[in-house]
Amino acid sequence: MSFENLNLHPLIIKAIGEAGYTTPTPIQQQAIPELILGHDIMASAQTGTGKTAAFMLPALHRLATPSKVPGRGPRVLVLTPTRELALQVSEAATKYGKFLPRTKVVSILGGMPYPLQNKLLSQPVDILVATPGRLIDHIQRGRINFSRLEMMVLDEADRMLDMGFIDDVEKIAAATPATRQTLLFSATLDSAIDKVAARLLKSPKRIQVATQQAKLENIEQRLHYADDLTHKNKLLDHVLSDEKLKQAIIFTATKRDADTLADSLAAKGFEASALHGDMNQRERTRTLNKLRRGGLRILVATDVAARGIDVANISHVINFDLPKFAEDYVHRIGRTGRAGASGIAISLASGKDSVHLKRIERFTGQQITSHVIAGLEPRFKPRPGGAGGFRKTPSVAHKGKRTWSNDNKSRQNLSSANGNQTNSRQRPYGDNNQGNSQRKGMWNQ
Ligand code: AMP
Repeated sequence: MSFENLNLHPLIIKAIGEAGYTTPTPIQQQAIPELILGHDIMASAQTGTGKTAAFMLPALHRLATPSKVPGRGPRVLVLTPTRELALQVSEAATKYGKFLPRTKVVSILGGMPYPLQNKLLSQPVDILVATPGRLIDHIQRGRINFSRLEMMVLDEADRMLDMGFIDDVEKIAAATPATRQTLLFSATLDSAIDKVAARLLKSPKRIQVATQQAKLENIEQRLHYADDLTHKNKLLDHVLSDEKLKQAIIFTATKRDADTLADSLAAKGFEASALHGDMNQRERTRTLNKLRRGGLRILVATDVAARGIDVANISHVINFDLPKFAEDYVHRIGRTGRAGASGIAISLASGKDSVHLKRIERFTGQQITSHVIAGLEPRFKPRPGGAGGFRKTPSVAHKGKRTWSNDNKSRQNLSSANGNQTNSRQRPYGDNNQGNSQRKGMWNQ
């Protein structure tokens, strides 16, 4: 199937061609015809599946025909849980709508100054992309007229539910015309989402694309067991010394940990910065732009801040701390392997994380293979099987040498091949000098 078959406006097809898209993704193939017919839809699709274009192209298709209702208020409203996602949606709208008239895009985000937003809202708007809290403020102050609104999109509805935004979303929906077309996108369509959909959508078509499993196919998932923080940091240094690592996002459990780790990596000579919700919007945007332009190799982030980041060059995602929820694991590792590229997701876990790892494996339906790096073996023996049995890992620091594996024979081979008589078990996190010097050479230039 091609985009021409989807009956989209020719100026939209032109912009898609310029963006380099040749074939609609599965969610686009299923959603666009329904949306052009004016149906409501609820779709399970995550970032990376092309869901933004799946709703934005039909939205723009609508805008190609002038509104029958006079006024200057938005005709399309997209609600997103985070500012980063809102900015990405706005960029996509501008990109796909560049040849169409009447496609003024405005983003209304928390953390941004009110005067500028007031000014933007006093001018004609076609597509409004907003986070719910700030939008409610403007609605309550009477700054938005929804009389022209034709389409409302709830992007990452599951996340808006988790973050407690659903009451705001419902209030916003109540301020829009009942005749609107409503679209709901969510990672999973569960009973909580069904309840929201029952209140806000009219006989929606359900669209289910790629299972978690299929979505993760191009991402290699690895696990390194770490005994303590020192060990974890050494493993991280080793991973970051991989020449194949173009850009990486490292996830930490807390904002403070993100700052600390980013500072310590920067002190070691890595191009690293933190991204989290305590930073003001200008700092966040600056950091993300730097990442997009390739001026930043390593982003150390928390879950919420990193949601929806779409940077093609992210080759590695590293879970310095495992996420609390299995679903966040999928969101995190989905930051790599974008648009058909392959990616590597590495989790650093302790022995205590075994139950948690099992839960993640159940959710994704895939096993995470544990790897061991020569000289950085964990002291404890993890159980065999999924999230267990060791595999040798491709090792930069030990390039050309045998890597340690769980069978004695290859361990012996390693010792003799290295001419190294030290038993690697006696120096579990022995300083990996070669790796360090290689890294310094690589990053300090
Ligand atoms: P999304 O799921 O909306 O975050 O999109 C993921 C990535 O896929 C973005 O970088 C889009 O630019 C890209 N993309 C969306 N649709 C297509 C398509 N039909 N062909 C190629 N790339 C696409």
